[in-house]
Amino acid sequence: MTQELHIIGGGMAGSEAAWQAANAGIKVVIHEMRPKVETFAHRTGNLAEMVCSNSFRSDDNEQNAVGLLHWEMRQANGIIMQMAAKHRLPAGGALAVDRDPFAESVTAALMAHENISVSYEELTELPDEGHWIIATGPLTSAALGQAIAKETGAESLAFFDAIAPIVYFDSVNMDIAWMQSRYDKGETEEERTAYLNCPMTKDQYQAFIDALLAADKTEFHEGETAGYFDGCLPIEVMSERGRETLRFGPMKPVGLTNANDPENKPYAVVQLRRDNALGTLFNIVGFQTKMKYGAQKEVFRMIPGLENAEFARLGGIHRNTFLNSPTLLDNQMRLKSRPNIRFAGQVTGVEGYVESAAMGLLAGRLAAAEIQGRVIPDVPHTTAMGALVTHITGGADAKTFQPMNVNFGLFPPLDGIRGGRKGRKERYKGYTDRAKEDFAQWLEAQT
Ligand SMILES: Cc1cc2nc3c(=O)[nH]c(=O)nc-3n(C[C@H](O)[C@H](O)[C@H](O)COP(=O)(O)OP(=O)(O)OC[C@H]3O[C@@H](n4cnc5c(N)ncnc54)[C@H](O)[C@@H]3O)c2cc1C
Repeated sequence: MTQELHIIGGGMAGSEAAWQAANAGIKVVIHEMRPKVETFAHRTGNLAEMVCSNSFRSDDNEQNAVGLLHWEMRQANGIIMQMAAKHRLPAGGALAVDRDPFAESVTAALMAHENISVSYEELTELPDEGHWIIATGPLTSAALGQAIAKETGAESLAFFDAIAPIVYFDSVNMDIAWMQSRYDKGETEEERTAYLNCPMTKDQYQAFIDALLAADKTEFHEGETAGYFDGCLPIEVMSERGRETLRFGPMKPVGLTNANDPENKPYAVVQLRRDNALGTLFNIVGFQTKMKYGAQKEVFRMIPGLENAEFARLGGIHRNTFLNSPTLLDNQMRLKSRPNIRFAGQVTGVEGYVESAAMGLLAGRLAAAEIQGRVIPDVPHTTAMGALVTHITGGADAKTFQPMNVNFGLFPPLDGIRGGRKGRKERYKGYTDRAKEDFAQWLEAQT
């Protein structure tokens, strides 16, 4: 069997994976369809093109999970962070870059590497032999998407991201909200109290509907909408169909008794479902939306119990090809049914340039080690990279799996540090200190 590594897709993840594997001494071929085949979002034939914003978000590695991920990628000699530093623009605490020179520099560095070659072609089938990483991103070409769906089962590959907002549990006001499953269904106490419920009076409901209807919304890109209306209507579209529609849909108040006020029947109830095994994150059930981010925060904080809600991610609906990774990938990011293929980047169900590049970094290292007969220990769950990969390969609930940004809700809790908003600064510093130590040890174990 060949000792070469083939990577399909030279975006954020594919570029980083190639760099890592090539630096470990592996010959790498990147198969990139652009510029021959275009996507609606990319504009150039460069590798690692930023399709929209020119920001890698916060660079604060003490108080911010994505800043911590930057730090980890720098420690691991990541090409994306290296070139971002070279083309950095002033942007306060954010790591923003001059996008074209950035992508050109990544492309030039990869092309100049003695172990890397680039083949400009669209691949349309899953490879039977050899070592492969598929990093074709949210806009994976249709033919390859079909080949992946054939292998994994169509229900395990999403083509749209209908994202409900996700809230940090410790920002919910439990004097108002309560835990209960509808009709107390479930075998165990945990199941009977699986949902977080936020009650609304008639006036609060009417004000909420008014705000939904008036909120700023984003528009779809051309060619983006096909297939999206199959059962994931945005809440604002539902409310446009009638003011009571939500009350008979995701906000129905039946089968629930307000534990904080049992005498009063709520007029409507917003339910939140646990989103991770740790129980630190909850998604608002059925609340996929095209409202702009600023409007979402305002409107969702009108929900009683969520008046101080902090969001791990906001809602959205857009074209996005991604796997149901918790069921399909093993903890080495290999497709369980075809372990010669790894997946990396946004197609694994992470979200964002940095997260995608980080998953490429990890996949590149894992693939190189496998080819060379080395074993890399699992990246610790306590690190940003480890928290993300643990989430996508098992920590997330497979039934409600949606792409995820890195955030502290994915980290195992710290002993002896208080929860809640007040202790946040100290807690985040605790997470990042612990992560740095563990990440350094993980890297050390690979030398
Ligand atoms: C419209 C849009 C806007 C976005 N805005 C942002 C943003 O502002 N900030 C942010 O952090 N993230 C944003 N994202 C998410 C962003 O795409 C990812 O964060 C990141 O680019 C994903 O990295 P990736 O390597 O997984 O995929 P990509 O960077 O998209 O790379 C995948 C590569 O695979 C290639 N490819 C696809 N199919 C094939 C095939 N069959 N054969 C060969 N090559 C193929 C593509 O041409 C592409 O170069 C946006 C996504 C979209 C779609």
